[in-house]
Amino acid sequence: MIIIYKKNHNISRKKISKNAIKILFRLHKSGYQAYLVGGGVRDLIIGKTPKDFDLATNATPFEIQKLFKNCRLIGRRFQIAHIMFKKETIEVSTFRGHNHDKKNINKIHKKKTNLGMLLRDNIFGQIEEDAERRDLTINTLYFNVIDLSIRDYVGGIKDIKKKIIRLIGDPETRYREDPVRMLRVIRFSVQLRMKIEKNTAKAIPKLAKLISHVPSARLYNELNKLLQTGFGYQAYKKLKKFCLLKIIFSFPLLHYNKNINILINSLLINVLKENDKRYKKKKKIHPEFLWSAILWYPYFINTIKIKNNKKINYKDASNISLKLILKKASFILSIPKQIIYSIKEIWKVINFITYNSKNIPKKIKKNKKFFEAYNIYIIKKKIEKNKIFKKII
Ligand code: ATP
Ligand code: MG
Repeated sequence: MIIIYKKNHNISRKKISKNAIKILFRLHKSGYQAYLVGGGVRDLIIGKTPKDFDLATNATPFEIQKLFKNCRLIGRRFQIAHIMFKKETIEVSTFRGHNHDKKNINKIHKKKTNLGMLLRDNIFGQIEEDAERRDLTINTLYFNVIDLSIRDYVGGIKDIKKKIIRLIGDPETRYREDPVRMLRVIRFSVQLRMKIEKNTAKAIPKLAKLISHVPSARLYNELNKLLQTGFGYQAYKKLKKFCLLKIIFSFPLLHYNKNINILINSLLINVLKENDKRYKKKKKIHPEFLWSAILWYPYFINTIKIKNNKKINYKDASNISLKLILKKASFILSIPKQIIYSIKEIWKVINFITYNSKNIPKKIKKNKKFFEAYNIYIIKKKIEKNKIFKKII
């Protein structure tokens, strides 16, 4: 372990959330160890503004709850304390440990599937063990607010300096335990413009299939972080390179012929680029913009098919088609109800504009989803100008 003292780093208390500092001091006063850890430390060292401040302590969730009135315990996989303030929630996790008494612990706390995936991992431990349980070296720096020193157990400082994304431990085991780590590796490599270490990268294509075992709600959240926080197009390219794209979007990407796949990918790429631009201009990102675009062509092609086969009108065919397509998508991704509702609205408006593009009534322009729908319509029109697609569309 290396200790980096105050004079050798650039983190000052001023840059840390006051609420996080309050919690850290109270834990220390009560006799516990407590540190700022994770993205908060990493981003402050790099010179970025942290998205949130995560804390780690040797106090158990129950002990944390006793100290803070505004505390709620959450999580099944790992039990974590959320300390709630008016404008922010601070996550406090108890140091996680290894389980040496495998016989007992495997049954009670540390459940694995037969693929090696951890279902529950709620063993408490020492800080050294906690460090080994974290994902990346750059995410495993512990900042002590009392003496302003940083503890580095796994070479995180060196990797930040060298701009390397390195998984802690054996990559294959760590991805098997939690396949979401593959997406996190990609996310941080694009967000921080860092290179993925050789072994950390090599194991991804081999284990990419495991992504389909991630619970659908977690996958949806991770994908929003990966694709809609300013680096979506870069992330798309890396997902493709590491064979993850076809697993994540097995529907729609594995269900259609080559030309339709080109259409789906072109729309997706354009929408990602558009979102990246919006994010950089600090404009609001609406997740339904991306999800409605990814599923547009499957929905549209299916609608036409149903219309022709059943000899019914477009609107009735559309109603059948949208239910079917959203159901197929939900096997892998659990898209929240509110977003599903917005996707349907966007598709409705796109349909309307497509057939009445010269004279869009005010009522349609006032639709809450008009802006997103019109944007997709324009991108679609550009893509479909290509001769190959004229035959299909
Ligand atoms: P950001 O908040 O900027 O997205 P972060 O690294 O803080 O990045 P969080 O999801 O807030 O990410 O997680 C906090 C810390 O918890 C991480 O830095 C890492 O140390 C640990 N962690 C998060 N997810 C995992 C995981 N899947 N496996 C192991 N450790 C993890
Ligand atoms: Mg964080």
